Amino acid sequence: MTMSPPAEAALMADADARAAAYLAGVATRRVFPEATAIANLSLFEEALPETGCTPPATLALLDEIGSPATTASNGPNYFGFVIGASLPASAAAERMMIAWDQCASSFNSSPVAATLERVTGRWVLDVLDLPRGSAVGFGTSATACGLSCIVAARRALLRRAGWDMDVDGLSGAPMIRVIVPETVHVTLLKALRLLGFGMRHILHAPVDAAGRVDPDRLPALDDRTILCLQAGEVNTGEFDPFAVVIPPARAAGAWVHVDGAFGLWARASQAKRHLTEGIEAANSWTTDGHKWLNTPYDCAMAICRDPEALAQAMNCDAAYSAASADAQRNLTLEFSRRARGVPL
Ligand SMILES: *Cc1c(COP(=O)(O)O)cnc(C)c1O
Repeated sequence: MTMSPPAEAALMADADARAAAYLAGVATRRVFPEATAIANLSLFEEALPETGCTPPATLALLDEIGSPATTASNGPNYFGFVIGASLPASAAAERMMIAWDQCASSFNSSPVAATLERVTGRWVLDVLDLPRGSAVGFGTSATACGLSCIVAARRALLRRAGWDMDVDGLSGAPMIRVIVPETVHVTLLKALRLLGFGMRHILHAPVDAAGRVDPDRLPALDDRTILCLQAGEVNTGEFDPFAVVIPPARAAGAWVHVDGAFGLWARASQAKRHLTEGIEAANSWTTDGHKWLNTPYDCAMAICRDPEALAQAMNCDAAYSAASADAQRNLTLEFSRRARGVPL
């Protein structure tokens, strides 16, 4: 449906007003929706309409039926799971970004997105005090970013063993072992399963009562091993003993990956930084913006000490559109993507 410029402006103003009214009520309403609000969701259950509904009417429907049936996680009273809200600054930046609607895959498709994400990536490394030359890919989630890091890890270890995975694939390739904490997050197991590691072959490192990997009972490590550790275990919030475990693992030639979906940000706190001691020696890290940092959803980072390892593994250069090796589309899963680094 085409709209006149004034009608379009009125629609956007209505969306902004409804959004502001929603946010104004989020602190005082109950967190999980009332039963009546949930029952009213049945009003959405109609057959695909033969004729369209006007944009203002559609927006009103979303607000009147949809808003009361939200979980009030974007407010001060929600304490369920590891679910963030969105801070006004990041939500406002996101609003601007939606108006821009950039395809943030490379400098050619969006100079502003490429520039801002390069700067944001550098700042992330500064805040987290991770090796400054690392690649920072902005992905949808710690799940997707963890997958990207494990892809880079396996490809790099196989290369070192003289195997070219890109050309020869995996059948007949040297076996790469993966060690995860017994308390590993289910999403990392999902990434490993999708990548074909086979749940039967995954080695589970025993943990202590707080859910931390026990260095004395760690399976043997070598240069064909990916060792996954955690900064922030979901049940206890605990951190693996990085300073004890990572140096010998690296010395043995293993690739060390850290899942720090929310916990990596402890590094930015003077009071909590000690929990992350030694974490900077790992090969790759994943973390979310949409949890501890309270950006809107779909904001996470894959950080890789060896920028080439990530850029080569995730490369997606097309003959019709060349991009620099470190363009975002060569660091994450997506070809077309939103500029997640902007709200971050
Ligand atoms: C939430 C979480 C993940 C998954 O992150 P998503 O962004 O939801 O994909 C992985 N690991 C830990 C420790 C988490 O808390």
